[in-house]
Amino acid sequence: EKRNPAQPEFHQAVHEVLETLAPVLQARPEYAEAALVERLCEPERQVMFRVPWQDDRGRVHVNRGFRVEFNSALGPYKGGLRFHSSVNLGVIKFLGFEQIFKNALTGLGIGGGKGGSDFDPHGRSDAEVMRFCQSFMTELYRHIGEHTDVPAGDIGVGGREIGYLFGQYRRITNRWESVLTGKGQGWGGSLIRPEATGYGNVLFAEAMLRERGEDLEGQTVIVSGSGNVAIYTIDKLHALGANPVTCSDSSGYVVDEKGIDLELLKQIKEVERGRVDAYAERRGTSARFVPGGSVWDVAGDVALPSATQNELDENAATALIRNGVKAVSEGANMPTTPEAVHLLQKAGVAFGPGKAANAGGVAVSALEMAQNHARTSWTAQRVEDELAHIMKDIHATCHETAERYGAPGDYVTGANIAGFERVADAMLAQGVI
Ligand code: NDP
Repeated sequence: EKRNPAQPEFHQAVHEVLETLAPVLQARPEYAEAALVERLCEPERQVMFRVPWQDDRGRVHVNRGFRVEFNSALGPYKGGLRFHSSVNLGVIKFLGFEQIFKNALTGLGIGGGKGGSDFDPHGRSDAEVMRFCQSFMTELYRHIGEHTDVPAGDIGVGGREIGYLFGQYRRITNRWESVLTGKGQGWGGSLIRPEATGYGNVLFAEAMLRERGEDLEGQTVIVSGSGNVAIYTIDKLHALGANPVTCSDSSGYVVDEKGIDLELLKQIKEVERGRVDAYAERRGTSARFVPGGSVWDVAGDVALPSATQNELDENAATALIRNGVKAVSEGANMPTTPEAVHLLQKAGVAFGPGKAANAGGVAVSALEMAQNHARTSWTAQRVEDELAHIMKDIHATCHETAERYGAPGDYVTGANIAGFERVADAMLAQGVI
């Protein structure tokens, strides 16, 4: 903490991993001798830069840009860009740190990194977003490349932003290469990439339930968020016969007794870029909007937090347990506080950590890179089959690793140790660098 002051989210993410590594460090003393934990906690490179841009009225704004290239032992740095007013170095470092282990779990040869800016795209025109993205890329381009560092989207960065970023990269470098993923379909984007994180998390939740002899059919599911991850989580839940009854944004949440109407939600969020209260207004009597408040007070069998970090705290966990929740699986990154994780695990709730449960997004990003390199594009069915296979594999790896290290059913321990072993072995083989 002395070394990295004022980075609480980063400390939290590191603490959560270190807490579970004791058995593997004991079993493999060579890791400690090579100072692997210390090396893993220090990013290989961190870039911070000025992003000046002009709004539609001609006013000049200055934001801060970040790219943290955390670890490339397994492949080029890979991880999203986040545009949100809460972004600072500590937030990007927490996300980059988690990304190392998540990417290792996919088995696809990608290192870990993350980036973004404190720019807030809410309420900005397309032209303003374009000018911001162009300014951001005018510095970022010198640090990234298809074999170096391949960013993607995250909060506040979707297909529109990736398009503007990619256009500026191509213009500056005169190269069409797979330097960003989440591109549009028709110019290099993979089918199923927009769906991948949400679909993958639902598959992970289903795999956890199957371990207990159950599945998602007929289950009531509490989903938070209403962005990319939440929307495709709801989509897959419907497909598997579950009933997602909530969604939310930073203004409050919606409960819809009949189940969330996916088409209406997509229209409001993806087309109109509106808020969830508009959903309740247009949906009719089955839905109501609750301003502020906690979506976790709504009763359900399964909870899938899909908005942002630390959105599910002790109080929320207590409410979920009281309402008999069976499984919680993280679509967002670190949405559950450490205290809430302990409460849920103690109560016997199956808990899927984001590193494992939401790895489907970055996995399909790696498949997008593979398609770009081969100058080909796979069918939606092929990508979806690969995604299902990868999620099954990640679940099995976490489950098996947890058992091997004496923590059966503890997916947090399983994910951390399995991801750590893969990166640590590669670093060990590559020498002191
Ligand atoms: P989006 O920007 O598409 O959506 C984010 C959603 O979360 C919005 O509904 C937003 O509401 C809400 N939200 C964001 N910040 C807050 C906050 N501080 N308080 C309350 N609500 C908030 O992002 P994504 O869906 O892509 O990302 C959601 C989560 O999933 C993030 O944690 C991200 O890191 C993680 N993730 C995303 C992946 C991807 O492929 N996109 C891959 C793996 C993880 P509002 O509009 O009001 O801010």
